[in-house]
Amino acid sequence: MRADDAVIVINAGSSSIKFSLYAGAELALRAKGKIENLYAGQTRFVAQDAAGSESASHAWPGAPLAHDEAMHYLVQYAQGHLDGLNVVAIGHRIVHGGTEFSGPVKLDADVAARLERLSPLAPLHQPHNLAPVRSIFALAPQVLQVGCFDTAFHTAQPPLAQAFALPPEITEQGVRRYGFHGLSYEYIASVLPELDGRLAGKRVVAAHLGNGASMCAMRGGRSVASTMGFTAIDGLPMGTRCGSVDPGVVLYLMDELKMAPGDIQRLLYQQSGLLGVSGISSDMRTLERSSDPRAKLAIDLMVYRIGRELGSLTAALGGLDGIVFSGGIGENSASLRSAVGRDAAWLGVQLDAAANAAGPAAAASAVGGAFRISAAGSAVPVWVVPANEELMIARHAQSLLEA
Ligand code: ADP
Repeated sequence: MRADDAVIVINAGSSSIKFSLYAGAELALRAKGKIENLYAGQTRFVAQDAAGSESASHAWPGAPLAHDEAMHYLVQYAQGHLDGLNVVAIGHRIVHGGTEFSGPVKLDADVAARLERLSPLAPLHQPHNLAPVRSIFALAPQVLQVGCFDTAFHTAQPPLAQAFALPPEITEQGVRRYGFHGLSYEYIASVLPELDGRLAGKRVVAAHLGNGASMCAMRGGRSVASTMGFTAIDGLPMGTRCGSVDPGVVLYLMDELKMAPGDIQRLLYQQSGLLGVSGISSDMRTLERSSDPRAKLAIDLMVYRIGRELGSLTAALGGLDGIVFSGGIGENSASLRSAVGRDAAWLGVQLDAAANAAGPAAAASAVGGAFRISAAGSAVPVWVVPANEELMIARHAQSLLEA
């Protein structure tokens, strides 16, 4: 890539499209922004410069946009604000690559159609991830588009870690463990050896704790096991998702409580987790400020489940050499990290309370936005690494461009 070449990364969800613009071979972040509240009342666009200051905004009061209209706006905005940069590739975050895509792929009509066929495996995400790809085929067909998958990093897991104890004719239909948040874990794996030489090639459990939350066991930077399985509701309790429940619960909801499939889906994806248990909010900040015992219960349940999964993933690794926290909660909630650290004392984890509370500015070991929160004598180093799926996607797009 030349200095004036740029890569745009698109992360499209059900109600928002986020973008980041990177320039030059070193992929310097130049701008980022989002259009949010698609289809709802107050669609809004905001852009930020590299320093994070707001550089543009726009609102569509009372006339909510759909994905294709939002992409049309973004492409026009980008064309008017490139400052001489030449967009050479667009990278997309796509939740599901199935068993077929174990790495980034150049997107053309055929690949897009194959990815579309995976939509039943991720109906709430895959169609939205693919909508901008189609828009760009129409609006800027000459630009290289690259698909990067949340599942791809986990295709390295051993077969046992990917299996359910179900008959083969069910597994053959794609019912198996995939794992998600793979781009976040891949980014963590890529920076960890620089952050802490002791962790290079070692056994690490990373926790990506945002609105969606999961944990991943990695050995030598490769995924060995993860808490999310067939779908992104498995594993930990999340903002509004329940995490693991006994599958018998779903049968009971259907057969005895007579809930329709759509109602069960809403319950498990949108009305459970921190929101469902607390009855107050899915937002960790709100729960941490609340004195309501249900808020405390929701947080305690998340901490308890993280601790149990940490034990399980440590078993899958045959031991533990390091822990990483990431995602909005993992990066910002010192109290959650402190509780997880306390419960993991049996693994040799000892946090440095001051470093944990103070964040990157005050930590003894800080690199970029990442910082170490374990005490000097902790048998297991513990780091906080800001999530950066977008940069991972930009790097993949750059590699494919140069391949
Ligand atoms: P997403 O998965 O949608 O990308 P994020 O990674 O942004 O979500 O994480 C959102 C979560 O992070 C919310 O629960 C939010 O409350 C939490 N969070 C953000 N900042 C803080 C903070 N300072 N303290 C505690 N939790 C925080």
